[in-house]
Formats: sequence, C-alpha cells, structure tokens
Amino acid sequence: MLRLHEQKMIHSQYIDYVQTSLNNLGFSDVWLQQSVNFVKIFVELLKKRIKNQFSQSWSTNAFNSNTCTNYRIFKNSWSSENYWKMLPKNLALQLCRFRCRNHKLPVKKDILYGVEANQRLSHLCSNNKVVDVFHYIFECNHFKADRNKLIPNSYRATNTWNFNKLFNISDYNM
Ligand SMILES: [Zn+2]
Repeated sequence: MLRLHEQKMIHSQYIDYVQTSLNNLGFSDVWLQQSVNFVKIFVELLKKRIKNQFSQSWSTNAFNSNTCTNYRIFKNSWSSENYWKMLPKNLALQLCRFRCRNHKLPVKKDILYGVEANQRLSHLCSNNKVVDVFHYIFECNHFKADRNKLIPNSYRATNTWNFNKLFNISDYNM
C-alpha cells in the first residue's frame, strides 16, 4: 500500500497523516527507513514527544489567546490539579464552569455582546473598575463579605500571585 501511495497509484490520507506526524515529531528517519531497532523504546519515546508537543502547543495557545488572560494566571501546566479529586461533584462542576468562563457573572453579558475588555465595567460595585473574574474575586465590594468568609486572609491581597496560589491550593483544610 505504501509503495502504491508513493507511486501515486493510490492516495491514502492515513499514510499522509502518519508521515506528517512522524516528521513533525522529529522521526523523519523512522519514516524513511520504515523500521525501528527497538520497538518498545521507540513507542515510549513517541508517546513522550506527542505529550511534550501537545503540552507546548497548549501553553502557546493559552498564552496567546485573548480569552485566557485569567486562565493562564492560575493554570501552571497541562495537568490536573489534585483538588479535583477532593471536591464534591457539584462544586467541581461550578469551579470548572468558572475556570472556563461558563458562569453567570454580569461580565458574561458584556462578553457575549462583544463589549471590548477595557470597556467592561463592574455593574455590581461603584468603583468603575474594568471587570473580569480577578475583579470579582479580589476587588469587587459586592463580594466583600463572601471573600472575607471564604478566602483565607493570607490570600486576599490583590495580586496575580495570590490568584495563582488560590487556584493551586493544596491544603484542603483552608
Ligand atoms: Zn465590582
């Protein structure tokens, strides 16, 4: 089949995909030789490169996306945080929605109506701040009582460091 494909007697998208994937993963030599010396080692290396390449692509996309400005502050790497295993399902679902901007906070309406990010002001407080989830968690007076009740004092200072720490908390008793 490969020979027929190379002689352009047939066209196989599958063969194209395998060739392109091997080339993109730095295994052009494997494609050219059509063999490997140690299959187990090759498969492990292949899996590692696929994972690394995906992780780099994920980081680049998160870093360059306008919709991920908050996400990239608290998401350090492409892996699951331990608290997902600890949270009850209903709270995990709410947190997941919040992290993915699938929430019902007032700023969502502005986002849906295409209001520019620097024009989105808090409708819940009077400090005329440009609003995003960071504002709701750390600044908005409307949530001051909830913030004082739910967020430990050492995490309340308004900065991205605390935002990151809060979403990567490992002490589940807090
Ligand atoms: Zn506010």
